[in-house]
Amino acid sequence: MNSAPDNTRIVVLGTGGTIAGTAASPDDVVGYRAGQIGIETLLAGVSRPPGTRFEAEQVAQIDSKDMTHAIWQTLAQRVAHHLARPEVVGIVVTHGTDTLEETAWFLQRVLAPGKPVVLTGAMRPATAREADGPQNLSDAITLAREPGLSGVLAVLAGSVHDACDVRKANPLRQDDAFASGEAGPLGVIGAGRLRWLRLRGDAAGSVAWAVPSGRPASFSHPALSLPAADWPRVEILTSHAGATGALVRALCAQGIDGIVVAATGNGAVHRELQDALVVAQSAGVVVLCTPRSGVGRAHPQAIDRLPMVDGLTPAKARVELMLRLMERAGA
Ligand code: ASP
Repeated sequence: MNSAPDNTRIVVLGTGGTIAGTAASPDDVVGYRAGQIGIETLLAGVSRPPGTRFEAEQVAQIDSKDMTHAIWQTLAQRVAHHLARPEVVGIVVTHGTDTLEETAWFLQRVLAPGKPVVLTGAMRPATAREADGPQNLSDAITLAREPGLSGVLAVLAGSVHDACDVRKANPLRQDDAFASGEAGPLGVIGAGRLRWLRLRGDAAGSVAWAVPSGRPASFSHPALSLPAADWPRVEILTSHAGATGALVRALCAQGIDGIVVAATGNGAVHRELQDALVVAQSAGVVVLCTPRSGVGRAHPQAIDRLPMVDGLTPAKARVELMLRLMERAGA
């Protein structure tokens, strides 16, 4: 029974993941199936603060390794819909941890929300003896109710991360699964209380294109309406010892719009791969490099033959390039 006034609502959108996963035994924390339990059930399993109404909506029910552009579009549309409702103060999205960072960056770039949109997940399935999902969901609710907060955030294992910096950093360990690289987490949540560790905006602010200026708050990004099948095709290639231009040529022959290169060192690309990329660039393919180390900022050089993006992992740089290409086409 919820007797709270109807002016404060949190919407919880479920997309699946380990947080909604089940295994045959409570001791099984690896051999489980993600995306099995509905969001209503997950929400019913956590205590909800009085004075706030809650709504649950199942947007998808997948293992996030299988995330698609079509689901991203539906999710962004649903988030936009709820953000536009004056009574909604914040949104929580439950998500698999595998691609959580990509979805976070996608939502930030497409919506630049003026209210908190908080992603969370779990490293252990809901059936595990020591499942981490309920605490993470509870922390996400705490964050989504935080007055004055805006933008896309992620909270896992008590750490609050900015969408720009967050990345999965460990395949199994519960407490170290997510990190924010050199920037570090924005804050921590313990016993239902939030403490900030640093100011926001340092990392995202240095990425000049993080929130394109002049974007109206009317949620008009082309990713919200352009059919997902028509989104620009952008692939990721890695520069490594023995790299060649063969994959670049194969992609160009198929018809590709953009290539993100996970570069070595300070954004360096193997000579053979670079030569093929320069040819692709002159044929109209947009190339963007980002360090493959994933941690630490690169320092672009005037002599670089390929443009570099700073502060985004290769997976996020792919999202970025795809969105930039959509924006350019729609301009
Ligand atoms: N494969 C799972 C997913 O991303 C992993 C998780 O949620 O932790 O959906």
